[in-house]
Amino acid sequence: MNFPAHALTSLWMTCVMLIYCLTLIPGCSGDFRDPTRQAERDRMVDEQIIPRGIKDQAVLAAMRRIPRHRFVPAFYSASAYNDSPLPIGHGQTISQPSLVALMTEALALQGAKKVLEVGTGSGYQAAVLAEIVPNVFTIEIVEPLATEAAQTLAELSYHNIHIRVGDGYQGWPEEAPFDAIVVTAASDHAPQPLLDQLAVGGRLILPVGKVFQEQELALYRRTKDGYERTRLTMVSFVPLIRKDQPTQPGKR
Ligand code: SAH
Repeated sequence: MNFPAHALTSLWMTCVMLIYCLTLIPGCSGDFRDPTRQAERDRMVDEQIIPRGIKDQAVLAAMRRIPRHRFVPAFYSASAYNDSPLPIGHGQTISQPSLVALMTEALALQGAKKVLEVGTGSGYQAAVLAEIVPNVFTIEIVEPLATEAAQTLAELSYHNIHIRVGDGYQGWPEEAPFDAIVVTAASDHAPQPLLDQLAVGGRLILPVGKVFQEQELALYRRTKDGYERTRLTMVSFVPLIRKDQPTQPGKR
């Protein structure tokens, strides 16, 4: 069968447009161009993280190394290196990369041996910590998220991350004291068990404030005599779920 030349041209143009559009759909691009996605990661660090003032070389190296696209659902894979939070299921989100960098840098992890994270989520923040310190303990209250994060971290050969399912408000007393603690869900106060489990000289970072409103990212430093508190920036995190209280997880 013969087609007129203009029909073939427009068919060809349609195919090209279709392929281009497919690459714009989350989950349909990226992998086939460079499976490691190193260039995208370097661009994220150079264009989204360094310009926000992050200087800690250990943090920058960790974020260049960790394949964030492995921590997000396939549907959002194409957006994995944008500086934005993304849904990870169960009404929860993976935090935006520049915020992960800011919080990790503010923990001042040089020389730290043991770090606790409350809110494992996808496991990405735990991986960033595990690139920098020898022992990471992380607690997640939503069991399927903990299971999925454990699987991703095992596939990526992180053997220094210990995951527990439970209420992170109580911390992990058997492993205390911690050189640093990071809470990646918002609470209207700093949980006393976490303050208690901080080593002298250690740092606790958490979003403090009302849920579904902007919260203050607070830094507590434990001194010989008590705690010093400073404000880092304003943020918007999902709520810290309390088992004994009615909650409504899911929104940022
Ligand atoms: N740090 C995560 C993102 C965290 S989102 C990452 O890198 O992907 C906040 C997480 O905190 C959610 O997974 C939520 O289920 C968890 N969470 C909320 N309340 C909690 C609690 N009381 N104890 C432990 N985890 C909690």
